Amino acid sequence: MQAQIENNEKPSLNFLEEIIEYDLKNGVHKSIITRFPPEPNGYLHIGHAKSICLNFGLAKKYGGKTNLRFDDTNPIKEDVEYVDSIKEDINWLGFQWANEFYASDYFEQLYSWALVLIKKELAYVDDQTLEEIRLNRGTVQIAGKDSPYRNRSVEENLRLFEQMRDGKYADGEKILRAKIDMAHPNMHMRDPIMYRILHADHHRTGNKWCIYPMYDYAHGESDSIENITHSICTLEFDVHRPLYDWFIEKLEIFPSHQYEFARLNLSYTVMSKRKLLQLVKENYVSGWDDARMPTICGLRRRGYTPESIRNFCDDIGVAKRDNFIDVGRLEFSLREDLNKRANRVMAVLDPIKLIIDNYPEALTEELYAINNPEDQDAGSRNLSFSKNLFIERDDFMENPSKKYFRLAPGQEVRLRYAYFVTCTSFEKDSEGNITTIHCTYDPASKGGNSPDGRKVKGTIHWVDANDCLNAEVRLFDRLFVSEMPEKVEDGMTFIDNLNPNSLKIISNAKIEKSLANVNQLDKFQFERLGYFSVDYDSTKEHLVFNRTCTLKDSWTKQN
Ligand code: ATP
Ligand code: MG
Repeated sequence: MQAQIENNEKPSLNFLEEIIEYDLKNGVHKSIITRFPPEPNGYLHIGHAKSICLNFGLAKKYGGKTNLRFDDTNPIKEDVEYVDSIKEDINWLGFQWANEFYASDYFEQLYSWALVLIKKELAYVDDQTLEEIRLNRGTVQIAGKDSPYRNRSVEENLRLFEQMRDGKYADGEKILRAKIDMAHPNMHMRDPIMYRILHADHHRTGNKWCIYPMYDYAHGESDSIENITHSICTLEFDVHRPLYDWFIEKLEIFPSHQYEFARLNLSYTVMSKRKLLQLVKENYVSGWDDARMPTICGLRRRGYTPESIRNFCDDIGVAKRDNFIDVGRLEFSLREDLNKRANRVMAVLDPIKLIIDNYPEALTEELYAINNPEDQDAGSRNLSFSKNLFIERDDFMENPSKKYFRLAPGQEVRLRYAYFVTCTSFEKDSEGNITTIHCTYDPASKGGNSPDGRKVKGTIHWVDANDCLNAEVRLFDRLFVSEMPEKVEDGMTFIDNLNPNSLKIISNAKIEKSLANVNQLDKFQFERLGYFSVDYDSTKEHLVFNRTCTLKDSWTKQN
């Protein structure tokens, strides 16, 4: 046994795991602390799930802990509604934070550190307008111009900054800047803004503050307050890292370090919260939890499981270069998981009547069916069977092609779990639509087994018309028609790439009786049709199912 373990190849580490293992081995840190820092200005999406799995996953793997920190430094866009949803989504994904913190809890500490920097002549109050600041920043090739207020005395800066806090000035009248280098090759180091005046109510601090710290100043310092050892963020922040380090170095506080990985981009969807908000506000979707949204709550409503999302995030790994992931990989992970946990049931989405003419009128049989071949513990159930059934309209063809193995005049098929039936005739209405199919059955084929070795190629699903339930079923297609919806021609927006046919509602599906008492988010495989999840709109009187995804291969093809 021992030898076998030693011979096994060690699974390779991603670059963050390598850094952490190095740090732990060399005593850089005794244990690790990571954080997940959402801004409460929207609902979490699958990209955030990647970051959550990474931050919580690393801490778990190395016996550390993870803080949840709301990055609530911009009072204008933030809301408690978002705070609550974010917590719910992280929990649902299966993670528990060590502490719940708010950047706004650190406002007082951040303010005193700003005073420290002023006293060290490393920060100053600037009276220039934002426009002037922008113009004087220069370009990558051209050095910026020092502000005329750059050399104010420490005393004057302290007085002005205090007055800023006390509400003496209007929005935009003054700002606090770090005093670094207006000719620095990294534009972020050209005297970046630390504080701006915003006379706005904050969701937690109310009107206590009218100056708010900028991301670059607040983020690293918040990390440091919490002794975050590995502050993991997405790649676009790598140019901010020198500034992150500069503040920590000048303040001589706990040396948190920032590490960047590539953000997750998925095909056929958008992930910026601003764009998702627009879809909600302009009613292109029914809400943040519309089952077509890439939000965690949308995926949950659609029928995704936390395991399928976590497996997907693990599976795609951690990249250092931006890339696009095919949404098919997310769906693959979903199918794999649902295949194991979803019970099989029968439902007919586009019902047409099938009458077995030689089956006794008054008879009802209870046929044995197993619930999930992938899960022995899932048990079995009885399916009621009678003379009158529903089958899927497209499982019958009046004039079949050679390769059509389902029902057609004179053709024999297997009714799943039941009998072999042969189509003898069919009825049409005045418009030529087929209304009823007539069959005869072979009583010797009970259970769907061939009585004499004769083969039938097609197996179709059905429900007992005398003993079934009605249901509404929502079928989804991709929300966008293009792989990269944000890539648009001039004059167009991502909205132009919306798929007009992304939702199809079926109001008269027929489902087997065993589904009478389902609960919201219960998951099933409707045989041959896909995986389905019970929607929040579902009631006992009006059942509603969402199609989570189709089956990769329907078993008809294999039969
Ligand atoms: P958006 O651009 O959608 O508004 P954001 O980055 O502004 O997202 P935050 O609330 O600031 O959203 O993000 C919280 C954390 O989640 C950050 O650490 C951020 O880097 C990470 N994150 C956001 N989007 C993605 C993504 N697509 N892939 C991986 N991580 C992400
Ligand atoms: Mg952000």
